[in-house]
Amino acid sequence: MAQKDAMHVELCEPFDSAHPEMAAPSCRFCGTPLRHTFVDLGMSPLCESYVPAERLGAMEPFYPLHARICERCLLVQLDEFVGPEEIFAEYAYFSSYSDSWVKHARGYVGMAVERFGLDAQSLVVELASNDGYLLQHVVERGIPALGIEPAANVAAAARARGIETVVEFFGCELAARLVAEGRRADLLVANNVMAHVPDLNDFVGGMEPLLAPHGVVTIEVPHLVRLVEGNQFDTIYHEHFSYFSFLTARRLLWAHGLEVFDVDELGTHGGSLRVFAQRRSGGRQPVSSRVAALAERECALGYDTLEGHGDFAPRVEETKWRLVEFLIERRREGKRVAGYGAPGKGNTLLNYCGIRTDLLEFTVDRNPYKQGQFLPGTHIPVRDPEALAQARPDFILILPWNLKEEIVSQLSYTREWGARCVVPIPEVEVL
Ligand SMILES: [Zn+2]
Repeated sequence: MAQKDAMHVELCEPFDSAHPEMAAPSCRFCGTPLRHTFVDLGMSPLCESYVPAERLGAMEPFYPLHARICERCLLVQLDEFVGPEEIFAEYAYFSSYSDSWVKHARGYVGMAVERFGLDAQSLVVELASNDGYLLQHVVERGIPALGIEPAANVAAAARARGIETVVEFFGCELAARLVAEGRRADLLVANNVMAHVPDLNDFVGGMEPLLAPHGVVTIEVPHLVRLVEGNQFDTIYHEHFSYFSFLTARRLLWAHGLEVFDVDELGTHGGSLRVFAQRRSGGRQPVSSRVAALAERECALGYDTLEGHGDFAPRVEETKWRLVEFLIERRREGKRVAGYGAPGKGNTLLNYCGIRTDLLEFTVDRNPYKQGQFLPGTHIPVRDPEALAQARPDFILILPWNLKEEIVSQLSYTREWGARCVVPIPEVEVL
């Protein structure tokens, strides 16, 4: 098994350039034409394009949400229909609005500072640093930090916290410029960004040059194996271009000069990987046995073959039917159902299932940016969480089901009028 796995790492090295002559979409990593469907969720609007009241009468663009798998490198991916400038120029997601996410970031910083001996002479660079939810914990410890964040509105929030932030997309060119300015990262953090990068080779290609000679890069990315096991099809959306198994993530990093030396499996985002890597030449971290163990486990599950990626699509369809059945039955009983949260994944779910205000009256979100707007495609209104106490719904559908413990505890007051919380994924469950 280990030998087979090693062979697999070599498969895509060196990778081909894209095949511009091909009309069919081609793999964003290795350039092979994409001929195989992973799951097709039909047409959907961009999941972060919340609709203000004055635009409710306007046309809305819908794009195919068709995940394909590359037969050569096995990367699961979506086509890029909309440029990242359009998606991320004014991003609605402020990481600091989630208590558990801020806590996760604090725990991560504590671990990294201790494990890699970071101090006032080090530099921590975070790619897609959002509103500084993570780097604030680095700066608090007196360690220099630099954020790179293309969305100007969230970058402004980070600067207000005193975190130096470059408002640009990361890639080879920006990495070269930073290196020319004498800046190299002892710790390079890329949490929940690699999946969102259309030009994957340019993004990952910038990492190794930006690292200090013995620097470490850590990457958190949702784990494809957990997506499949947990039936988390709602985490497939246009802004999320690539879906990684450990095998594909490791192959990608290797092709760009980085050796994976450790991996953790995390509970965040429904199951993520934290991959630790260093320069293929010169890195001094020992390689953990967890690397081979996880690679072998994925091979045993079939993630080293096209066929092994499973019969995902029929399960997704069955989940849709069950959720719609549940909502129709509640409606026939005269019950009221509201939502909690307005995350991107909720919009994939609601659009794929065709759930509009006839089945879900409204949803609420703590993020004031989303309040008063309407969900893309379905036009379900987003209200302040206080709206729940006024409407007193019988059921509350938790759309960010990955945060269900935190949300159920926040909603404990709704038991006063007998409300029950419901999660849609992996299947409909009344809590
Ligand atoms: Zn490929």
